[in-house]
Amino acid sequence: MKKIISVVGARPNFIKIAPIHKAFLKYKSSIHHLICHTGQHFDTKMSSVFFDELEIPKPDFSLGIGGGSHAEQTARIMMAFEKILLQEKPDMVIVPGDVNSTLAASLTAVKLHIPVAHVEAGLRSFDRDMPEEINRILTDEISDLLFVTAKSGMENLRKEGMAASRMFFTGNVMIDSLVHYLPKIEQSDILSTLGIKKQKYILSTFHRPSNVDHPERLQKILESMKRLATSLPIIFPIHPRTRNNIKDFGLENILPDSVILLEPIGYIDFLALTKEAALVMTDSGGIQEETTFMGVPCITVRNNTERPITCEAGTNFLAGQDYTKAVDKAFEILSGNPKKGTIPKGWDGKAASRIVDIIVSHLNA
Ligand code: UDP
Repeated sequence: MKKIISVVGARPNFIKIAPIHKAFLKYKSSIHHLICHTGQHFDTKMSSVFFDELEIPKPDFSLGIGGGSHAEQTARIMMAFEKILLQEKPDMVIVPGDVNSTLAASLTAVKLHIPVAHVEAGLRSFDRDMPEEINRILTDEISDLLFVTAKSGMENLRKEGMAASRMFFTGNVMIDSLVHYLPKIEQSDILSTLGIKKQKYILSTFHRPSNVDHPERLQKILESMKRLATSLPIIFPIHPRTRNNIKDFGLENILPDSVILLEPIGYIDFLALTKEAALVMTDSGGIQEETTFMGVPCITVRNNTERPITCEAGTNFLAGQDYTKAVDKAFEILSGNPKKGTIPKGWDGKAASRIVDIIVSHLNA
């Protein structure tokens, strides 16, 4: 029996690991797949709701490490995870995404000579001010197996000198979860609960430090939402970081009633809201991919994207941090000029199965 530990810490990680856990079930007589939750995101709305809705079993290990600076968080996860690795001696560690838990767990594992598989390897924004970009570059460099979601990821890794034998273009596990839960997403009653109609609202999320950690930028975002909400109501499920900053910067009075502020929403309802929105405006990574898959127009309010395929093939438009331009573009789309997109190769609901097959044959080699 081989033992594998997957390490998750934050909301997008849970969505990526759920299909991998399900795919391992077909090997349950030969692979023991365990889950370690670092605790980076810990409250019900950012964490346990995803375990419940995505049918991920209760974590086998909970490190309980939330909060703190980047260095504190990374170091504390490493110290706690090292103890688990020494005790469990797994044959492999899987890390999805680009959060501090991803880097902390991969670094701890390689130093103990435990092979690491990185799910969602090769993404690059080429913006080293983003903490996620540092986590991606370093995790890819030290991982044994690199599972890539899009062609650009393969090119990025090649340019960084990664051996072809480590790289696998397996597709997008984020889309696996979406495909798997689509029947439930289509049955969600969140629209009637909120009193909104299909195509008659905008969905928005903001949480990237480059947007929400600067008082003037956050103020401009809220003011542009106010302008945009003159067209259609905006549903704004707010990330805890953004909510705290709005309060700390004294910006509570900008948003009108037509911007409906909500707590973070569970996965099924959030995807239902995405699917039926006239438009999504965001700075999220995962949401760029989900809107492309569902053919929903998306405006990404960032200067770069590590997911260029969503702009090249999909429905995403990169507006930069020019908030006026973003809203102008939104008005253009809403006036009946949406971008048509196609679904990228490998975004077919079967990525996790391909990944797990490769891992199993690697471990048996
Ligand atoms: N999401 C959710 N509820 C919300 C906001 C987001 O379920 O209120 C889901 C959505 O599927 C999204 C994922 O969480 O793709 C990751 O979100 P986030 O924007 O936090 O992370 P990123 O992808 O930017 O790292």
